[in-house]
Parts: sequence; C-alpha cells; structure tokens
Amino acid sequence: MTTLAIDIGGTKLAAALVDDSLQIRERREIPTPASKTPDALYAALTELVTPLMKQATRVAIASTGIIREGILLAINPLNLGGLLHFPLVQTLENITGLPAMAVNDAQAAAWAEYHALETEDGEMVFITVSTGVGGGVVLNGVLQTGSGGLAGHLGHTLADPQGPVCGCGRTGCVEAIASGRGIAAMAQGDLAGLDAKTIFSHAARGHQQARDIIAQSAQTLARLIADVKAVTDCQTVVVGGSVGLAEGYLPQVVESLAQLPPVYHVAVRPAHYRHDAGLLGAALLIQGE
Ligand SMILES: [Zn+2]
Repeated sequence: MTTLAIDIGGTKLAAALVDDSLQIRERREIPTPASKTPDALYAALTELVTPLMKQATRVAIASTGIIREGILLAINPLNLGGLLHFPLVQTLENITGLPAMAVNDAQAAAWAEYHALETEDGEMVFITVSTGVGGGVVLNGVLQTGSGGLAGHLGHTLADPQGPVCGCGRTGCVEAIASGRGIAAMAQGDLAGLDAKTIFSHAARGHQQARDIIAQSAQTLARLIADVKAVTDCQTVVVGGSVGLAEGYLPQVVESLAQLPPVYHVAVRPAHYRHDAGLLGAALLIQGE
C-alpha cells in the first residue's frame, strides 16, 4: 500500500508518497501560509496533495502542535493564530477521500528513529533541539502519544526555576534555555539580536560568550537526558534538530552527562534522519495500525 505522508511545520508543508518498504517515491514542498487562517491552510494543503493523492490509499500526517483526536492544538495557543482547533484529519479526509490519521511531528520522528535503531530494547527517547525542544517516548516498543496528545513534550519540563519565561507560560522550561530561540534570547552585547546559527559560528571561532551560551544549552539537555533515563530506563536517547546536530554540540552533551552518577548514563546517538523523519514516522505509524 502507498501512504500519502504529510508534514505540517511552522515554515513549510511537505508531502510524499511512501511505500511499505519506507521508500519515498515523490516529494513536494510548499511554504506554510503566513496568514495562519484555516482557509489559507486548506487551500495550501489542497495544492500540496492533489498531484499525489490518486496514487495513495491512506493519509498519515505529522504536524507541529498537539494533535488530539485529529484536531490541532498547542501548548501555547498564540503560536497557532487562527489555526487553533483546525480539524487536520477531517480536512485531509475531505480533500483526498482517503482515511487519515495525525500525530505530533516530534512523536512521529521518534517512531522513525526508533525503527532506524533496529534495537531489541523496548525503551527509547528522542529529543529534537531546534527552534524549540520537542520529543517522543517509546515504552515497551510502543510510541507514547498520551490520550491528550501531550506525551513526549520534553522541552516543557523544568530546567531552572529562576530561568527565563517559556512560550508556554511557565518559568524555566528546558526549551526556554536550550532551544535555538533560547540561545538567541540569552545573547547580549555584540551577540544581541543574532540567531542561534550565527552564535554557533561565533562559538566555533572561540567567542567566549557564544561558547558559554551553547555550553549552558548542552548542560541543560544533559540534565534532561538524565531525567528521562530515570523516568523511562531507556537504553538510548536519540538527539536531532538543527541545534542538536550542530557541529560539536552533542559531544558537549555527552561530556556533561558523563559527569553525573553512572545510573544516569545512557547511549546518546545523533538522529538517523535529517529531514524526513516526520513523514516517515507518520507513514510507519499508519502501517502499524
Ligand atoms: Zn515551556
């Protein structure tokens, strides 16, 4: 069977035909409508999937936000604008005439990464560090989504009660410190206003403040990894995302984790997939249904 997999992100919408051996046959991508209105998203999704849908038998969606019973929600509803409560599954079923399912994009990516590990272990945690911090948890070989869709939102666990206020409204979340947005927000003086990518390149050239900010992010992530080890007894933590996979970042995380007592040590691996983990994870999930 061929799955029409769709990835709905903050800046782009991607779709691909994925076969049962997880090969991507055709892939299309368009920008996410800036207006964030339901009509604009409906039109964009129609444009995206129409050339592909006749070859598919089902639709699997990975999306930013919280997916609860096929409907789009978010920890910070302001991020979604007019798309709060957008009926993702119903909309795609209407456009394509095919059965559809939807899952959070980091949860989908976690499932793809779990399969790529080809492990006998039942427990694995995936953490993506990019603009925000997201994740997915596999227990007993089953991806945890939670009845409300919240499971695995690891970026919104507490890192520092005296830390910066997070987009979710809580003070001191991991995301507020470790994410690309958090890194940029911490920059002062000659680094003020720069994005995370530029701060990383300054760090690579030896800029002390840039190095300190990135070290703080890496230490925060290491503490999160220790926490998820304690909660899940996972044998592997897979780290992805533009910050997570940035040159030199993961070795700092591993070094920081190694300074904690041995019970917290866990294998930390870079993500196998760079771009299509959401598409492939969603396709894998619908295959397993
Ligand atoms: Zn938060």
